[in-house]
Amino acid sequence: MADWLVVGAGLSGAVVARKLAEAGNKVTVLEKNSFVGGNTYDPVVDGQRVHLHGPHIFHTNSETVIEFLSQFTEWYDYEHRVLAKINGKYVPIPFNLTSIDRLFSAKKAQMLKSVLQGAVGTKSETTIHRLLNSDNSQEAKLGKFIYKKVFRDYTRKQWGSSASEISNSVLDRVPVRANHDNRYFTDKFQMMPVNGFEAMVKKILEHSKIDLLLDVPSDEYKKQLSKEKFCVFTGPVDEFFRHCYGPLPYRSLDFVLKNAKRKSGLPSTTVNFPNKSKFTRVTQFSKFLMPSTSQPTMAFELPKDHVQGQTVPYYPIPTNENHELLKRYQEKAETEFPNVHFLGRLGEYKYWNMDQAVARALTLGAQLAEIRNESCK
Ligand code: UDP
Repeated sequence: MADWLVVGAGLSGAVVARKLAEAGNKVTVLEKNSFVGGNTYDPVVDGQRVHLHGPHIFHTNSETVIEFLSQFTEWYDYEHRVLAKINGKYVPIPFNLTSIDRLFSAKKAQMLKSVLQGAVGTKSETTIHRLLNSDNSQEAKLGKFIYKKVFRDYTRKQWGSSASEISNSVLDRVPVRANHDNRYFTDKFQMMPVNGFEAMVKKILEHSKIDLLLDVPSDEYKKQLSKEKFCVFTGPVDEFFRHCYGPLPYRSLDFVLKNAKRKSGLPSTTVNFPNKSKFTRVTQFSKFLMPSTSQPTMAFELPKDHVQGQTVPYYPIPTNENHELLKRYQEKAETEFPNVHFLGRLGEYKYWNMDQAVARALTLGAQLAEIRNESCK
């Protein structure tokens, strides 16, 4: 009999299982797929590594996360760059001083650049919401321009609702920069696992105290779960409770694979479509994944609502209403299943990046190892 049941062998499940195992616990991990890594799954198809569930770019400022993961993979450096076609020109996203230079005449650009520099003050960047809400009319006007050209239509497509209906934190993930830094992220560590994420997660799970079971039907855990059983659940929290308060909504995506028309492919790894096109963005795998055939295979992203049992729930949708519903599930979890801990994008219904998911799993794993050790004394 295992001490712990971990449901799901994605990044969160694997990391928490490892921490528990390292603390001396026997852990059974149940995974519904025939592979590990969850949505980071990145097989090599015809000589080209591909991200079947959308581009996953690793970046973090956390030394703890890097130290932990580096036990299980080697890395290569990769800094992500994104362009968007605005007014017929490719401009860097996050929107920055280069974006202004590309879109305006030299004189107008000079004026707008000083407006943006004034808006950030001593910092190097701001958010679209701060610009839009600025008391300074020129800053607010620039904000409106950037909102309309970069955020408004992309957000409507991605979330199926307007920006005002979702938490400001979503759009504020993508800053507005008063410099010429064209990288998508500015984190201290920006790199990708040499043999991919699946291989890294496999290694995390290789431990004498971890029993990994693949191809397990997704409700199998219910047979093994009792009120006393210690469990970490990384599936959708509402699914655990059979949607008793109603389903928490998620956004899903279709990925449409195409070959580039031009041999050189896209002008950057990812091109965003912040316009009326039905797609949100397209990514060329050969520009950032090894091995690469240099075959310009590209994945276009087409957002849609998640339908339980039919599509993959990729994004929790951060609105006030959904947060209230989440709280009801969390309260139910605490009172009825105190030994079950919910973790990860789906378990916590939180828009975590990969490094945040790993950091959360490391912290929870350390806490749970303590609890279990105490209860065994
Ligand atoms: N966003 C946008 N236009 C862009 C890029 C991002 O409107 O060109 C908004 C959109 O609402 C998106 C959010 O910013 O969902 C966060 O973008 P990010 O690239 O972080 O999304 P992810 O890579 O997680 O899908």
